[in-house]
Amino acid sequence: MHYQSLINGVLNDGVLKLDVVNPATEQVFATAARADEALLNEAVAAAKNAFPAWSRTSADDRRAKVLALGQAIEQNADEFARLLTMEQGKPITLARQEVAWAAGMFKFFASMSVSDVVLKESSRGRVIQQHKPLGVVAAIAAWNYPLHILSMKLAPALMVGNTVVAKPAPTTPLSALLFAKLAAQIVPPGVINVIVDNNDLGEVLTNHPDVAKVAFTGSTATGKKVMSSAASSLKRITLELGGNDAAIVLDDADPKVVAPKIFRLAFTNSGQICLAIKRLYVPSSLYDAICDELVKEAEKTVIGDGLDDKTTLGPVQNRQQFERVKALLADAKANGRVIAGGDVGEGKGYFIPASLVRDISDSARLVREEQFGPVLPILRYDDLDDAVRRANDSEFGLGGSVWTANPARGFEVAARLEVGTAWVNNHIDVRADVPFGGAKQSGVGVELGQDGLEEYTQATVIYATA
Ligand code: NAD
Repeated sequence: MHYQSLINGVLNDGVLKLDVVNPATEQVFATAARADEALLNEAVAAAKNAFPAWSRTSADDRRAKVLALGQAIEQNADEFARLLTMEQGKPITLARQEVAWAAGMFKFFASMSVSDVVLKESSRGRVIQQHKPLGVVAAIAAWNYPLHILSMKLAPALMVGNTVVAKPAPTTPLSALLFAKLAAQIVPPGVINVIVDNNDLGEVLTNHPDVAKVAFTGSTATGKKVMSSAASSLKRITLELGGNDAAIVLDDADPKVVAPKIFRLAFTNSGQICLAIKRLYVPSSLYDAICDELVKEAEKTVIGDGLDDKTTLGPVQNRQQFERVKALLADAKANGRVIAGGDVGEGKGYFIPASLVRDISDSARLVREEQFGPVLPILRYDDLDDAVRRANDSEFGLGGSVWTANPARGFEVAARLEVGTAWVNNHIDVRADVPFGGAKQSGVGVELGQDGLEEYTQATVIYATA
């Protein structure tokens, strides 16, 4: 099956075909239309041409279209879910959840608006702030939640009147292309364009003089490149980047209560979530008990092809990431003690079992770097201040959590974490109406909520003298 891209309202075969591999089988199961620089320029030109008319449509007209995009995802939920599992690897239940989240993004932003705000009013006149659309938005996504990440960017960008050129990750282009096919029936030509590259057009897109804003989700290393190329025309940027989230268990926590939750929040989507728990700090008094409970959870996982309903842990998404996680695991074996998983089979598919590493040193790669895979280091602490210091000792600052039977105490500790989002007795949980973004090298700007919507606008102040 070949999936076409969308440029100026027309489905396009691309200049080349990009093979798409199922990570559970390592088989090519579909191809995607791959663009070159000329097609990318066509897509940007189409978005630029569509902008004046789209930005002038009434908010209610745009609201109806944004809602219709969400409904189109819902109406094709089964096809989206199957495709997501085949291209991304995640268990089908998680794929269905991702489809529901994506549809929910369009519904949520269809209910939002930006209004004029009167900042001052007197006999001398009024000062009014407006929020205007920016123009062409480049939406660039990572491969872990391809459809959800796309929706988080497209829904707010379109709602306030921007047009879009979207670029999914080359290893997971199909759900974006299925969305493009549906979008072609809903929005005017040029309002949504979706192109696919082979990791070779991102810089061209972010450097393009006709792109007004880049909404990027991906690694910190690529985020730095985006920031640098966006500087060419001082583009607006939102960067949602990598994380190395710490979870700190307090000494009053019940291991049997917290360990199953912590396990789920570290291993969902095979650990390939920016906001997954990636380092676990446990007091010495609970260390053995927590480790034992986590091992029980690891033993319950069913690893396999996500299309099998019984699977709870799918493969890692692509070969490059598979090799990276295996290298981190090998390093962790040398620097700690593996108490679950650890051995990667020889068969087909990028499968890594749920792996737990205890008694690991703070300097091990698995602790310092973002693993983005199903391997969790468990670190011991004796002094809470020391645990907070070690949790904060990272270039990343995406999320963090505190686990305790005393929520008030948990709040105090959570407030000390140098992160964009902190939780007490939870992690990952992000809501459409609450802004989300990273501290330190985990990001710039926010997505979601009213703040996230306004990131797709230019604030303009008008002094209207009486
Ligand atoms: P990546 O940075 O390799 O790729 C992300 C996207 O950038 C892809 O579409 C890629 O083709 C594109 N790209 C590559 N080079 C580019 C360039 N020079 N300019 C512009 N775009 C370019 O990331 P990945 O490996 O796909 O994703 C994993 C990373 O994403 C992890 O670090 C994860 O934590 C992060 N992530 C962050 C969030 C968040 O919201 N903070 C969410 C999901 C994933």
